[in-house]
This record gives sequence, C-alpha cells and structure tokens, in this order.
Amino acid sequence: MSRLLFLVAVVGLVYWLLKRFRNSATPVDKPVASEDMVSCAQCGVHQPKSESVSAAGKFFCCDEHRRQYESK
Ligand SMILES: [Zn+2]
Repeated sequence: MSRLLFLVAVVGLVYWLLKRFRNSATPVDKPVASEDMVSCAQCGVHQPKSESVSAAGKFFCCDEHRRQYESK
C-alpha cells in the first residue's frame, strides 16, 4: 500500500513540474505580429503601417519625409 502512495506522489510531482515548466515556457507577452510593418522610403525606419504616411504606393515615417521624398 505504501508503494502505491509513493507512486501517486511521484506522478503528482512530475505532473506539477511539467505544468510549471509549461507555464514558464509560454511567453506572457507575445510580440504583436498582426500589424504590418513598413519602412520609410526616405530614411528606412520601420514602423506599423497604421502609423505611417502613405503616398503613391510608398510609406513614410512622417509627413516631413514624404515631402522630402517627393521633392527629390
Ligand atoms: Zn522617415
């Protein structure tokens, strides 16, 4: 009977360790990969598409760089 209790204790411990390991292995904050990243045609800086300025199929980090690019 004591053997069975020992076995249950070992299985329980292994299960607990596996659960603990799995929790620690899972990153809490996943990188946001849903948003498209674009690079500025003027300076090449990368940023989310929604935060960039687009003109003539090109993306820019700011309106200033859009004007600089178009005045070239
Ligand atoms: Zn730029």
